[in-house]
Amino acid sequence: MALGEFDLIARHFTRPVRRSPLGVGDDCALLAPAPGMQLAVSSDMLVEGRHFLSTVAPERLGHKALAVNLSDLAACGARPLACTLALALPRVDDAWLAGLAAGLHALADRHDIELVGGDTTAGPLNLCITVFGEVPAGDALLRSGARAGDDLWISHPADPDEPGWLGEARLMLEVFRGTPGVRTEGLDLDRLRLAMECPQPRVALGLALRGVARSAIDVSDGLLGDLGHVLRRSGGLGARIEAAALPRSAAILRQHEALQLECLLAGGDDYELLFSADPADREALPALAAQAGCGVTRIGTIGPAGSPVEVIGADGRPLATAWASFDHFLSR
Ligand code: ADP
Ligand code: MG
Repeated sequence: MALGEFDLIARHFTRPVRRSPLGVGDDCALLAPAPGMQLAVSSDMLVEGRHFLSTVAPERLGHKALAVNLSDLAACGARPLACTLALALPRVDDAWLAGLAAGLHALADRHDIELVGGDTTAGPLNLCITVFGEVPAGDALLRSGARAGDDLWISHPADPDEPGWLGEARLMLEVFRGTPGVRTEGLDLDRLRLAMECPQPRVALGLALRGVARSAIDVSDGLLGDLGHVLRRSGGLGARIEAAALPRSAAILRQHEALQLECLLAGGDDYELLFSADPADREALPALAAQAGCGVTRIGTIGPAGSPVEVIGADGRPLATAWASFDHFLSR
């Protein structure tokens, strides 16, 4: 039996709300941020063929659509409250929608948030989630807070066996593309695919970094490019990254050095937190991250205004860094 717009919303996207005063079904949802909190809001859109392949499992697509949004809240140190979903569908496929909703609701449950509204229309497959979070007034982590002399850190899984290390999503993309020179023998492609399709947003780390990190951003378009956003917003600062300090998983280490660096520095789709902090916090940060269920590695330092952004090789000399990060209108 054909499912109409309102049936599919009722079946897949309507659940009783637990923390919001009003969820799906009215003209607006109602949220109740705690007194003294600022509302943190972010939207991210996923377009078929651009952000995901048509063959992706719907559960993973539902997970990723929410995960990339939660990652933005994490980067601001905000606690997730709720989300909305705007969905364009070429056709109504009940089983596919059930999968999408299952992936989305599972991740939402894990972060104790709920889907409170959205929009559903016919059209080329496209998902846009908006997330709402809360952060004590004045405590949000911003791109603009870096200072010369700060340590530069990147997050990663707690365990080498966990998928989702820096550069792995990009490596999987290169495998899919059949890029010459990618070494696929011995690679665990299921794991790499998980890295690409099921990123784990660093929400707990973002909360732990409030009052500690001076600047933060989540790496969605490649480490160097996203670092550039921080440096520009912080008054034109420079940075020095030690290539040897970059966390490298076994899958990355199998690749030739140039591809390793491209995946690590210009990969994108990593959804790790790149943040700067006072060197006085150097000892405390790994323990803080461990409590938040992940790891952090110090990869360099922030330099003074006007200084270059350099990646230093093993010989102590800057590498030629031709990698641009991803820009939807400038990149291929
Ligand atoms: P309106 O016409 O007032 O914009 P709609 O008829 O589009 O409302 O939607 C009906 C209700 O279903 C609203 O509460 C809306 O937020 C919700 N909704 C629509 N699409 C979705 C979706 N994909 N996921 C969650 N809620 C949705
Ligand atoms: Mg209305």
